[in-house]
Amino acid sequence: MNEMIQVTDTATQPAANDDSLPTPQRAVPMLPDAQTVTQVTHWTDKLFSFRITRPTSMRFRSGEFVMIGLMGDPHPDTGKQKPLLRAYSMASPSWDDELEFYSIKVQDGPLTSKLQHIQPGDQVILRPKPVGTLVHDALLPGKRLWLFATGTGFAPFASLLRDPQTYQDYDEVIVTHTCRTLGELTYGAQLIEDVRSNEMLEELIGDSFAAKLRYYPTTTREESLKMGRITDLMRSGNVFEDLDVPPLSPENDRAMICGNLAFNLDLKALLEEFGLREGANSAPREYVVEKAFLD
Ligand SMILES: Cc1cc2nc3c(=O)[nH]c(=O)nc-3n(C[C@H](O)[C@H](O)[C@H](O)COP(=O)(O)OP(=O)(O)OC[C@H]3O[C@@H](n4cnc5c(N)ncnc54)[C@H](O)[C@@H]3O)c2cc1C
Repeated sequence: MNEMIQVTDTATQPAANDDSLPTPQRAVPMLPDAQTVTQVTHWTDKLFSFRITRPTSMRFRSGEFVMIGLMGDPHPDTGKQKPLLRAYSMASPSWDDELEFYSIKVQDGPLTSKLQHIQPGDQVILRPKPVGTLVHDALLPGKRLWLFATGTGFAPFASLLRDPQTYQDYDEVIVTHTCRTLGELTYGAQLIEDVRSNEMLEELIGDSFAAKLRYYPTTTREESLKMGRITDLMRSGNVFEDLDVPPLSPENDRAMICGNLAFNLDLKALLEEFGLREGANSAPREYVVEKAFLD
């Protein structure tokens, strides 16, 4: 890992008179958009999160995504390396000094087969051009905000759940997270716990903010307190009974969806049945949706 990226770190570049390194390593070009990894946490054999430095000029809205990556392998003929970039939701809120990401580990994935080995001090490439639809601006004002996630689709909500605006704009915030196993829920569960005791949010919003946050995790394979797909639990009315809230209505409820394609389509259809319409940055409405990955 360090071989690929040490060249971007001016602090660790060899001095001009350092003869201990072979010549080719001294001549490697600088990468523009490089940021330093500050923290890495492995949650399961398939999931990890990491934090990196944030460019001082970079502004974004909580819930947006950027392109991040590493240098790809050298071309067999020319030896040239190209950046290997993928879309990633920022899991940290817009006010954070650093950027946090929550990532899958795909064993034969071009990027994550390597990215899963990063360590503090390593560098990653970040194209600081945030975009996305899972933002407050894309929703009309409402009373209750639903955040529906599967797997790493929790990432943009980890950002929004740490943003004071989320609690200023809504009376109630319900986050549902569906994964196959309990282990896959750990990052989200830990984050909810941290948010509930976040002193800055308490100071800004008041003690009542923690009571606004409702967490509804479910598993589909491993046995847990609540099992099943959220869409099935909504169709049966089970989730509304459990949370003691009425079914969604376009007058009161707003929603954000982030999951795999099948989940997104299923939930979109369901929200439309409840009378909610899809919004966008340019035309805010009652719900917004984004893919957690391309497929
Ligand atoms: C808008 C957007 C935001 C994204 N945000 C995140 C994020 O915050 N965290 C994250 O881990 N990924 C995210 N992704 C997916 C990410 O861009 C990459 O696909 C992922 O990092 C794997 O890269 P790869 O090169 O290793 O494998 P790829 O060649 O990109 O993917 C290989 C296969 O792995 C599966 N896969 C890819 N990503 C995931 C995933 N997240 N969960 C489950 N299966 C997956 C798919 O079946 C895919 O065909 C996002 C994608 C989009 C479009």
